[in-house]
Amino acid sequence: AHAVEIDGLVKLYGGTRALDGVSLTVGEGEIVVLLGLSGSGKSTLLRHINKLDVPTEGHIRVLGEDVASLRGKGLRHLRSRIGVVFQQFELVGSLSVLENVLTGTLARLSGPRLGTWMYPKELRTAALGHLDRVGLAGREHQRSDTLSGGQQQRVAIARALMQSPEILLADEPVASLDPESSQQVMDLIREIGRERGLTVLCSLHQVELAMSWGDRLVGLRAGKVVLDTPASGVDRDS
Ligand code: ADP
Ligand code: ADP
Repeated sequence: AHAVEIDGLVKLYGGTRALDGVSLTVGEGEIVVLLGLSGSGKSTLLRHINKLDVPTEGHIRVLGEDVASLRGKGLRHLRSRIGVVFQQFELVGSLSVLENVLTGTLARLSGPRLGTWMYPKELRTAALGHLDRVGLAGREHQRSDTLSGGQQQRVAIARALMQSPEILLADEPVASLDPESSQQVMDLIREIGRERGLTVLCSLHQVELAMSWGDRLVGLRAGKVVLDTPASGVDRDS
C-alpha cells in the first residue's frame, strides 16, 4: 500500500513557484531522502503532507486519506499518525527532557504546564522507554537546554515516537549538527524507522549523507523532482 501519493503538486507563494508539479508515491515502510539545495522546496513538500500548507494545484493522499478534504477531527487524526522532527528541535529549553517528550507542541503552546507526575504512569513509562531507545536513559530530569544539539534532536525523536506514528517527517534534522552527531542522528532515525516499519521522509542538503542513508533518493531542484532512484544505485559523479 502507499503511504503518500502526491500528484501534480504546485505551490505558489506570490510569484515564487516553491513546488512546480511534483508527483511522488511513497510505499509503506519506505525510507526516503529528499535531497536539494536550500530553497528547492523540501520543507514546502513536507509541510503539505500533514496539511501545514495547502496546494495551489494538485492532489495529496496520505495513509489513504485525501488530505484536502480533511479538517477538524479528521485532520487531527491524520496528524496524530505523522511524527515530525525539525531542524531546530523545537524543544522548550527550560523544561526537562521528560517534560519535553511528554508535552506535544500544541499542548505546550496552548495548555497549562503540567508536572510530569500528572501524566498517567503508562505515558511516563513509554516516554522513558523512548528516551532509552534514543540513547538518553538517565537524562530525563536534565534541563533540555543543557544538552548538546545531537542530544536535543534525540529528545525530539523520542517526543515524535510518543504518538506511535506511522509516518515520520524529518525536515533537515541534522542541519545544525556537527558531522559526527549528524551521522549518529541519521543512523538512529533509519534504525528506528526500520524497527517500527515507519515510512520515513527526511530532507537533507548534504549529498554525501543522503547517498549512504535511505532506500531511495529523491532530488528536488527549483520545486521539481529531478532525480528519483534507489539510494544504492546512485553514481557519485552524477
Ligand atoms: P527548502 O526546504 O528546500 O529550503 P523551501 O520549501 O523552504 O525550500 O522553500 C522553497 C521556496 O519557497 C523558496 O524560494 C522559499 O523562499 C519559498 N517559500 C517557502 N515558504 C514560504 C513562505 N511561507 N512564504 C513565501 N515563500 C516561501
Ligand atoms: P529551510 O530550512 O527549509 O530552507 P528556511 O530557513 O528558508 O527553511 O525558512 C524557515 C521558514 O520560513 C519555513 O517555514 C519557510 O516556509 C519560511 N520561509 C522560507 N522562505 C520564505 C519567504 N521567502 N517568505 C516567507 N517565509 C519563508
